[in-house]
Amino acid sequence: MSTMQAAIAHEFGGPLSLEDVEIPTPEDGEVVIQVETSGLCHTDIHAVHGDWPVKPKMPLIPGHEGVGIVTRAGSGVTEVKEGDRVALPWLAYACGNCEYCASGWETLCPNQENAGYSIDGSYAEYAKGFAKYVSKVPDGVDPLDAAPLTCAGVTTYKAVKVSGARPSDLVAVFGIGGLGHLAVQYARIAGATVVAVDLVDKKLEIAEELGAAYTFNPTKVDVTEEIQKLGGADAAISTAVSPKAFEQAYQSLKRGGTLVFVGLPADNEVDLPIFETVLNGITVRGSIVGTRVDLAEVFELHANGLTEVHREVRTLDTVNESFDDVLHSRMDEPRIVFDLRDGLA
Ligand code: NAD
Ligand code: ZN
Ligand code: ZN
Repeated sequence: MSTMQAAIAHEFGGPLSLEDVEIPTPEDGEVVIQVETSGLCHTDIHAVHGDWPVKPKMPLIPGHEGVGIVTRAGSGVTEVKEGDRVALPWLAYACGNCEYCASGWETLCPNQENAGYSIDGSYAEYAKGFAKYVSKVPDGVDPLDAAPLTCAGVTTYKAVKVSGARPSDLVAVFGIGGLGHLAVQYARIAGATVVAVDLVDKKLEIAEELGAAYTFNPTKVDVTEEIQKLGGADAAISTAVSPKAFEQAYQSLKRGGTLVFVGLPADNEVDLPIFETVLNGITVRGSIVGTRVDLAEVFELHANGLTEVHREVRTLDTVNESFDDVLHSRMDEPRIVFDLRDGLA
């Protein structure tokens, strides 16, 4: 029996440890990949901390921005073959038959499995996926870029789509982390003028480099007032890990505007007024990751040179300090990507 190393959480809030475990075996319709890269999404921290109403499995191998090479395919797999480079996204499996799956909303499937949450993920030398839900990574997309695109990319690409952003709209992105720095770019691709909001000036500088026309730090200015001075936002997308940012995003909208909830702070409540929502015709909607088609589009945009992924490369043995660094914004780039190609240390 062959073993691999994986970063494993055993209890909520506890540290992850690198351990030897069995390499997964592919069942019918499944594939096993040798992981090349795996991004650190803030969701992985929420998972290990048990922050959300629905808890992950424990013990858990986190990770849902996994990219690697298919080494084994179970019986009946036709979608990919050994040697293909694929991504293992959050939406690891959906039933394919329910009303959501059948209508192009597989992300809402009630029978879904989520990588690094309900099943083990890609903080490991090998990881298992469902062949129908892994996505091929096109040649020419660096695996270090493909990893963040697999969640941060597809999620914000979809969020911009559902925000209804159009050319010349003003779109405010709250939170310029792994997700937000890509949201800025997709909003620009949609033709919008972008306002970026974050508590950390370094993140705002990155947003500006990526095409944000305005940047505001709520610790220094009244962001809602500043955005209202610009005419108000047609759409606001909150990826920030704080309910306060969602409330400010709401207050930044113009009449008829749309607020998209994307971030998932542990503190699960926001305070929004009914009267203004009704009279100003405001739309509030949630957006959860994206479909396989959305992810294919995200890879295509990147392969065509339309997006940039700002990431900091680390080894998986830094996982605990990396979680801490994300919580305290102590990185040079908005996304950490673990590179497993030369081992875990
Ligand atoms: P991140 O830590 O990289 O980024 C969060 C950013 O928000 C940071 O730059 C931080 O400085 C900023 N921030 C915190 N408080 C703020 C405030 N009050 N105002 C403005 N900015 C503030 O995290 P990430 O990986 O980009 O994930 C963001 C959130 O999105 C997490 O809660 C994650 O679980 C969630 N998420 C949701 C989906 C989805 O499908 N809806 C998918 C992936 C991640
Ligand atoms: Zn994620
Ligand atoms: Zn379904």
